Amino acid sequence: MIIFGTRARTLVPKENKSYDCDYCQTKGSVTFAFIARYFHIFWIPVFPISKKGISQCSHCKQVLYEKEMSPRMKQDYANASASAKRPITHYFGLFIIGLIFCTVIYGITTNSINESKYLAEPKVNDVYEIEKNGSYTLYKISEVKGDTLIFKPHNMVAEKYTKLSELQKKHKNDYSEETIKFTKSQINSMKESSKSDFGKIYSIKRE
Ligand SMILES: [Zn+2]
Repeated sequence: MIIFGTRARTLVPKENKSYDCDYCQTKGSVTFAFIARYFHIFWIPVFPISKKGISQCSHCKQVLYEKEMSPRMKQDYANASASAKRPITHYFGLFIIGLIFCTVIYGITTNSINESKYLAEPKVNDVYEIEKNGSYTLYKISEVKGDTLIFKPHNMVAEKYTKLSELQKKHKNDYSEETIKFTKSQINSMKESSKSDFGKIYSIKRE
């Protein structure tokens, strides 16, 4: 069960000034109050929705919504509204979403920078995630000879890409003793094109 919806909070202008009443002409009898609504999930604020206010005259008891105010009162309303700030916590969810977004972008960028580096300077024990003929497996570098990379393929094959991490964890050392060779240019074509005859490189891991 997810509990979500809108909640409201009363805002009081910081400078609790009073203003003149247009109706009964009393000086300094009008104050403003504001209601700030926000969207919540499990009572945690996610994002702000609306902020509405009213004027109240302590003398003639007139209460007005913004649309009913005279142009002069609307100016007072705007001033009071500017000093009745919504708490920053109403933006909490947006902040979290932004943080997650930045983390993901950072991860993708770092990963792609690292992979370019691994491609340019391959090292023994780098693990390549490979797709070939619709299934997935791992190739581990066992030797680098100039422009030729010698790999040991993993003994197992996964039906889904997401299962590869399981191979990596549970069958970490289960690599074949038979080797396969690729030139660096073949490796580059496997990284760039999914139509390569040798398969496609999904990603490169280095411990
Ligand atoms: Zn009044």
